[in-house]
Amino acid sequence: MTQTVNADPAELAKFSDLAHRWWDLDGEFKPLHRINPLRLAWLAGMAPLKGKRVLDIGCGGGILADAMARQGADVLGIDLAAKPLKVAQLHALDAQTEGVSYREVSAEDLAAEQPESFDVVTCMEMLEHVPDPSSVVHACSQLVKPGGWVFFSTLNRNPKSFAFAIVGAEYILNLLPRGTHEYDKLIRPSELVGWCRSNGLSLQATKGMEYNPFTQRYWLSGDTSVNYLLATQKT
Ligand code: SAH
Repeated sequence: MTQTVNADPAELAKFSDLAHRWWDLDGEFKPLHRINPLRLAWLAGMAPLKGKRVLDIGCGGGILADAMARQGADVLGIDLAAKPLKVAQLHALDAQTEGVSYREVSAEDLAAEQPESFDVVTCMEMLEHVPDPSSVVHACSQLVKPGGWVFFSTLNRNPKSFAFAIVGAEYILNLLPRGTHEYDKLIRPSELVGWCRSNGLSLQATKGMEYNPFTQRYWLSGDTSVNYLLATQKT
C-alpha cells in the first residue's frame, strides 16, 4: 500500500545530518537551547505538566521533550527523522531523564492510533518544515483530550521576518545554518489561527519571541512579527 506521508525528505535530511550536534549548547541548535527555558515556562504556566501525558511533535533531539519530562510529565516525543530521535534517546539515557520516550511516527498516524490521549501537545518550530501544516494541526486536535492544550511555535511570513529570520539569522549572524528556513513555507499567525479554529482549537494566548543580537538575549513579548507562539485549547 502506498501512503502519502506529510513530510519533505529534504527537510528531514537537513535535521538528520546535524543530529550529532543537537546537544551542543554552542552548535547549530544553540537558538533552540536558548529559547527553551522561555517557551517551557510560558506553556507550563498555562498547562502545569506534573503527572500529565504530553506529546511533543517534531521533537528532534528532544530539547523540549526532555525538559518537560524533568518537570514531571510523561512525555512521548515523535519525529520522522531517525537520527535526531536516536540522539534524543541517547541523551535521555545519558542524562538519566525519567518519563520520556521517543518514536518515529507521523502526527497523522499517531492520531489514528491514539485519539484524544494527551493532556498537552506541543509542536514547536516544526510546521514551517512540513508540506501540509494544516494536516498537522488537524492531527494535534485529534490527539489532545477535550479541554487539553495544544501549543505551537513557528515563524511569521512578511518582509521583516524575511530580513530577520532568514537574511539576519542565517546569512549575517550565522545563528542558524543557511537554508534552515524557506520563505514560502513560513506561516502567518492568521493562517495558523484559522487552521486551529476550523479544527476545534480555540486561541487562548499569543506571544512573540524577540532577539537582540548585541546582548544575545531572547525574550517573550507582544511582537509576533518574526517568531511567535500560540496557546490553544480543544473545546
Ligand atoms: N521541536 C524541536 C525541534 C525543532 S527542529 C524544538 O523546537 O526543539 C524541526 C524538527 O521537525 C526536526 O527534528 C525535523 O526532523 C522535524 N520534522 C520535519 N518535518 C517533520 C514531519 N513531517 N513530521 C515530524 N517531524 C518533522
